[in-house]
Amino acid sequence: MCTYHEQDRASMGQRVALELDLVKGYRFFDPHVHMVSRTTDDYQAMADAGVIGLIEPAFWVGQPRTGIDTYRDYYASLVGWERFRASQFGIRHFCTIGLNSREANNEALAEQVMELLPFFIHKEGVVGVGEIGFDDQTAAEEKYYRLQLELAKEAGLPVQVHTPHRDKTKGTSRSMDIALEHKLDPAMVIIDHNTEETVKEVLDKGFWAAFTIYPFTKMGNERMVQIVKQYGSERIMVNSAADWGISDPLAVPKTAALMVKSGITKNDIEKVCYENAIAAFTQSGQLDEALFDEKIRIDQAEKFEGNSVLRGGQQPRRDADSIIIS
Ligand SMILES: [Zn+2]
Repeated sequence: MCTYHEQDRASMGQRVALELDLVKGYRFFDPHVHMVSRTTDDYQAMADAGVIGLIEPAFWVGQPRTGIDTYRDYYASLVGWERFRASQFGIRHFCTIGLNSREANNEALAEQVMELLPFFIHKEGVVGVGEIGFDDQTAAEEKYYRLQLELAKEAGLPVQVHTPHRDKTKGTSRSMDIALEHKLDPAMVIIDHNTEETVKEVLDKGFWAAFTIYPFTKMGNERMVQIVKQYGSERIMVNSAADWGISDPLAVPKTAALMVKSGITKNDIEKVCYENAIAAFTQSGQLDEALFDEKIRIDQAEKFEGNSVLRGGQQPRRDADSIIIS
């Protein structure tokens, strides 16, 4: 016998499955999702919903790091194990590497991270410097934001900019002004976590405008539909920013389904949920759209440094059409 709560959950699952039917056959690219904190179920659900590629920005881990070694291992996992894990579900994994704004405030650590960055930003699959920018808008945050803008400019890499959740409008303007001051081409800068208040200025100044869909709060997907209705699909992209907090790794396909329901054209949906992000990050030279026409051959018996995604007794999936592990 199930409780009301379980029934609610079951019907919610069915509703989501029905909604996602509206976008069957679409391809999605989530340009901001922290997969190290997600499960294999999430990878499976994303693949089932049509997500064929993603970008994992380097970020903090929910509590302050105490030394450079954990930073080094984290970056190594973004270009190593996590990339492999995604591939085992048929998803192409890219990342951006950077010193996040919160930890820019630990200057002793920040100095060491700055020395480490050049060893990682040129690795395979690294499509930009990110996510960097402001959190509390402190002097230390500004210092390391500027240094990393220079690093990205020298390396010819796009920049993924995290805008602050507090005092957002000012923080967003300031992030763009500083990027322009350092002579970055706005076409190489993706301004993330936009809202209705920031989008116009970002687009007017020639930057890419990314939107994070947060379940229950801030930027919901209904609001995203309204933004596309008002501003169109040029230089706009949608992401989940799913991490270890309450967040939804299916935010991109779910938003696309809502856009279908709301009468937004397939062309516009494909642009904001797939093409624009790829176009922005292709400028790194590390991402080629043609890649997505080739399906990844999945062999879950494969190993990365001796480890596979399988656990005792599980049968590997080998390039079957179904994404279900038997
Ligand atoms: Zn993030």
